[in-house]
Amino acid sequence: MSAAESNALALVWFRNDLRLDDNPALQAALDNGYVPIPVYIHAPDEGGDWAPGAASDAWRHRSLAALDEALRRRGSQLRHFFGPSLATLQSLIATTGAEAVFWNRRYEPAHERRDAHIKTTLRHEGLRVESFNAALLFEPWTVRNKQGLPFKVFTPYWKTLLTQWQLGLCIDAPSRLPHSDEGPSGVSLDALKLAPKLAWDRGFWDEWTPGEAGAHAALDTFVDGALRGYREQRDRPDRVGTSRLSPHLHFGEIAPWRVASVLERERTAANGADIDAFLRELGWREFAHHLLHHFPETPDHNFDARFNDFAWSNVSPDRLADWQQGRTGVPIIDAGMRELWHTGWMHNRVRMIVASFLTKHLRYHWRHGARWFWDTLIDADLANNTLGWQWVAGTGADAAPYFRVFNPVLQASKFDPDGRYIARWVPELAGLPVPLRFSPWQDPQALRRVAPDYPPQPLVDMGAGRESALAAYRKLRG
Ligand code: FAD
Repeated sequence: MSAAESNALALVWFRNDLRLDDNPALQAALDNGYVPIPVYIHAPDEGGDWAPGAASDAWRHRSLAALDEALRRRGSQLRHFFGPSLATLQSLIATTGAEAVFWNRRYEPAHERRDAHIKTTLRHEGLRVESFNAALLFEPWTVRNKQGLPFKVFTPYWKTLLTQWQLGLCIDAPSRLPHSDEGPSGVSLDALKLAPKLAWDRGFWDEWTPGEAGAHAALDTFVDGALRGYREQRDRPDRVGTSRLSPHLHFGEIAPWRVASVLERERTAANGADIDAFLRELGWREFAHHLLHHFPETPDHNFDARFNDFAWSNVSPDRLADWQQGRTGVPIIDAGMRELWHTGWMHNRVRMIVASFLTKHLRYHWRHGARWFWDTLIDADLANNTLGWQWVAGTGADAAPYFRVFNPVLQASKFDPDGRYIARWVPELAGLPVPLRFSPWQDPQALRRVAPDYPPQPLVDMGAGRESALAAYRKLRG
């Protein structure tokens, strides 16, 4: 008897694929005639040293609620459980009589190890177990250089992807889902304690709508707005110049191939360069996952081992807190760190500037910054965050051929030329004339008058910080 004839059940284990469109695991359960039982298992410890941070949890809470609502509209529902994952799946299999388990793959090292173990164990126990790609255009092991090795440099990687480029098929969510009441219904979403007890995340939700519908709305907004001019505007934090899809992509609320397909449908002679520039950024996301899979130690260790002897400074907790809380006295840094705290997100250009300031001017190990981002970003993503921090620190793959130290004053004047981004996030400086907003310490009197509580001097002298970073680099190179 086939699965369909017997009404056999399959667990569909949702993880970072919180959507019903383009969900290969769910689709496989349906295509094979199973009644899917959608489950979510909360097991933060299974992420190894990288258990999800507080902002990420806050997003996940809302995204799970949106997924459950979408399932209920179709006659099904999401069951929530606490980990450990394997024991929870085994107990569910025993109580529901499920014959199969389907999930979509994750690529973080601790999750890859866990999933491989779960797959082998359950298959040994006679279950049908299958996993799928829901997150990437190219899974890490499908792309190799001419020597059969993983890529370490983005441009050749990207050129290779372009030769293999073909868009995945978009499959809309089923309009109805079969349902089963077998087995335990699980705990409530609130019992997972993902939402913060104190509503420090209130500001997030003025800007963001977690869940699949929110992801589609963000894509539509981008296509109708910032896509035009993306190539030029994507570096401007004072404008909405990018898609803001990163948390939606991280939580799998939309498939990257759907994003790419929608953009391809919109392609015209006028926006072709913008679309190409955007797809290249999706390419960086692919590259980050490629690196994380092939070099799984890099969230904690320098990609470039030569930096193991780099003379990082001893961390002063007070100075680190000044950076974290946007009190460095360097307005573009403070604006970025405050944007992050209030919205759970920071513009990419500003991420680079604040990361450079921490790792170069203060010479703090990039891990301190990566950890803070991990806890505060709603799009915290082990692959992208690791790549971003190591790239800026100069310790990563694809590092610039020279040791780059961003000048925060020049960067601010170039990418926030009217000082509007600074005025938004450091409003006490809005009363200063524009050039002074970039380096207010140059007119102490004006600064005292306008913003008496703002630090009168930068946390570190700009020139001295830069020189000491370069000196440490020269020492490293012998
Ligand atoms: P868009 O410009 O609209 O780009 C579209 C998509 O492409 C993004 O949503 C993202 O998925 C991907 N993308 C864009 N730029 C990059 C990049 N440089 N590397 C990898 N993927 C990219 N991104 C995260 O998603 N999570 C992180 O934890 C993260 N940490 C970072 C840390 C540092 C120090 C730096 C410099 C960058 C980091 N990034 C991270 C990359 C980038 O800043 C964000 O992806 C981007 O700002 C998201 O905004 P957007 O969706 O509007 O981007």
